[in-house]
Amino acid sequence: MENAGALGITRPIYLDCHATTPMDPRVLEAMMPFFTEHFGNPASITHAYGWAAEAAVKQARESLATAIAATPEEIIFTSGATEANNLAIKGVAEAYCTQGRHIVTVQTEHSAVLDPCRYLEKLGFEITYLPVQSDGLVDLATLAAALRQDTILVSVMAANNEIGVLQPLAEIGELCRDRGILFHTDAAQAIGKIPLDVQQMPIDLLSMTAHKVYGPKGIGALYVRRRNPRVSLAPQLHGGGHERGRRSGTLATPQIVGFQRAVELAMESGAAEQDRIGKLRDRLWQALAPLPGVSLNGHPIQRLAGNLNISVAGVDGQALLLGLRSVVAVSSGSACSTANPAPSPVLKALGHSDALAYASLRFGLGRFTTEADIDTVAAAVRDTILALKA
Ligand SMILES: *Cc1c(COP(=O)(O)O)cnc(C)c1O
Repeated sequence: MENAGALGITRPIYLDCHATTPMDPRVLEAMMPFFTEHFGNPASITHAYGWAAEAAVKQARESLATAIAATPEEIIFTSGATEANNLAIKGVAEAYCTQGRHIVTVQTEHSAVLDPCRYLEKLGFEITYLPVQSDGLVDLATLAAALRQDTILVSVMAANNEIGVLQPLAEIGELCRDRGILFHTDAAQAIGKIPLDVQQMPIDLLSMTAHKVYGPKGIGALYVRRRNPRVSLAPQLHGGGHERGRRSGTLATPQIVGFQRAVELAMESGAAEQDRIGKLRDRLWQALAPLPGVSLNGHPIQRLAGNLNISVAGVDGQALLLGLRSVVAVSSGSACSTANPAPSPVLKALGHSDALAYASLRFGLGRFTTEADIDTVAAAVRDTILALKA
């Protein structure tokens, strides 16, 4: 509760880094000149204003490509991971529909993957929504068994936004590559946090976003492989032909520069930062694990360093949140999107009852989380659970 807001109102400690992260001040600093001084349109090829913006975009594209071992031509800027997922899934479906109309994804995917898939079902595509094991991991044999002659795409996220589970991307990619099926991964939670290398891993399309890694909202990218295989993509936004005709719309230079800086900072902080965050996460879990009814959701080890998702058997989820909200900003086990009060489909996919899914808390720790924050939150969670159990 150390954060006094602009109006002097004490704000709760922010542990909701899977929803979004505060922008790193160094990112803002890098962006500023591109709002005012270097405001040109990167597509303006007739004057120096355009050239300056174009140079910045080129540099950002190179830097972001390098972060995942891709080439600059393989990066398409989008408004975020939602758009990148839509472009990947609908763009591949449209481009490959004469070869097949079957797509495989997973029940625990983000709605930005599930909803484009549901949309394609209405257009006559067939989608397989794979279950997960009780630890949240996809079973590779189950995945292999779901692949068919007419499967054109598999979409499995890199890191889950609720339980932090890291799916075995390399193994999934191999299964797809062997069968000539394209593999897309939603890496919104993973970029800058775990190593992603599209030369080492057979990933054909990869969605990214800046605002989960201390960058600005409203910017992301889709990586699309150009060699072995060369992925075809039908554009979903038509217009001025930007991004080699694959995504029209004036490039948001300040956001792109911010995205670049955010990912560069994350790469610099690297394993050391993840290690620090992981230790804080473990400290929180050690404080909460002994409490009555508390259990861990998701794989104990194979997950994001900043993620802790717990269920508390025998307490009311709403009361739990209510008891905590002045101390800590966290999200609960209800579907976080819009005003949807349904129990989290991710926790349901782990086999939880509605009540247990509701009585869940997702903690997302990040770069600016301190040990004092964790100790304050741990005490508040303990007091709230014990009060509700009494
Ligand atoms: C946040 C998130 C998205 C949506 O990204 P936006 O950039 O906000 O559109 C998609 N997938 C996952 C896994 C996410 O965590």
